[in-house]
Order: sequence, then C-alpha cells, then structure tokens
Amino acid sequence: MGMHKGQTNSGSFKKRQHPWNYGLTKETDKRVKKQSDFLKGHIVTKKTRKILSIKHKGKHHSKSSKKKISIAVKNRNPEVWKKTVETRRKNNPIWHTKKTRKKIGLKVSGKNNGSWQGGISNKPYTYNFNTKLKKQIKKRDKYKCQLCKSKKDLCIHHIDYNKKHSFPKNLITLCRKCNNKVNQNRKYWKKYFKCGGNNVNI
Ligand SMILES: [Zn+2]
Repeated sequence: MGMHKGQTNSGSFKKRQHPWNYGLTKETDKRVKKQSDFLKGHIVTKKTRKILSIKHKGKHHSKSSKKKISIAVKNRNPEVWKKTVETRRKNNPIWHTKKTRKKIGLKVSGKNNGSWQGGISNKPYTYNFNTKLKKQIKKRDKYKCQLCKSKKDLCIHHIDYNKKHSFPKNLITLCRKCNNKVNQNRKYWKKYFKCGGNNVNI
C-alpha cells in the first residue's frame, strides 16, 4: 500500500499543491485511517457503502483528474504495483485470481455444497461426476438450460434422479430454477427427458 499517503503518487500533483492527506498517517488522522481501512477492503459497513454511494451519485471524474489518473497509472513502479496487487488480493476476495476462485469454487461445489439440488445432496456422487464431466455436458448442451434456454445458474441434472448414473445420456444441463422444478413431478420429467430430449445424446 502507501498510495494513499500522497508520496508514491505525488507526481500527479502540481508543485505546491498537496493531496488532502499530505503528511498525515493513519496513526495520527482518523480520516486517513478510515481511507486506509477502506482501501484494504476490511471495514466497509453497509452504512459506509450507502454514504459513499450517495456521495458519489452522478459524479464522474473530470477530464483533468482522468488525465492525472492515467499519468499516475503510466508512471507507477511495476515492482510497487505488483506488491500492491498482491496485498489487495490477500485482503479482498474479489481480487483473487481465476485460479484461486476456481479452487474456492471447487471446495463448495458438488457433494460439499449443502444447497446443491435442494438438500438431497448427502448421497455421494460417483467418482466420474466431476467438474470435467459437468463441463462436457454443459458444452454439449451449448451452455443453455435445456428447458427454458436460460444461460444463468446452470447445473447438471440426473434424468433418472439416480446420482450413481453419471453418464452423459442420463445427464442434462438445467438452470437452477428448472432444476428445482424437475425435482417435483419426477415421474413426468423423467419420461419427458427420456422421450423428448433430443439433446440427451452425446
Ligand atoms: Zn431453465
């Protein structure tokens, strides 16, 4: 960090013009502390967020401040920036890399996720019902829910409701809404997918 102390970005200020936090540290000034906590992504309460959103409503960066930002971005030291990004990633999940997010995603998916398929999730999945297979099915179904064609919240449904039968013919891509729907009237949906589903052939 250190960007907020006005030293690393002083290049973007004209001579004799200082940022509001010039010479202040988070130890001596409440506002600096607040800003520092905010940048770290630690203490952003709902209230703070609301205040910020009201404060910033309709405001845009002026042309000159946009220019200042772009100069600052161009002039930043790559080593310092790398460190800044690393710290931010550590402190704030939205800065996680794709790889890390995937890791976290894997931890809560499938049998570890209690909300999966409406609570009937405690039965263990067969060894091959893994991310790779799910991806294959989604690709086959063109990343669309095979009932409503939605592309949101897709999951893989077992057509005969037997989680041990994890082979492509028994799997179909559904959105979460439709997946909940087919958990009722099971007899009907089983028949529906087995007869009408042209898409169930891989
Ligand atoms: Zn759907």
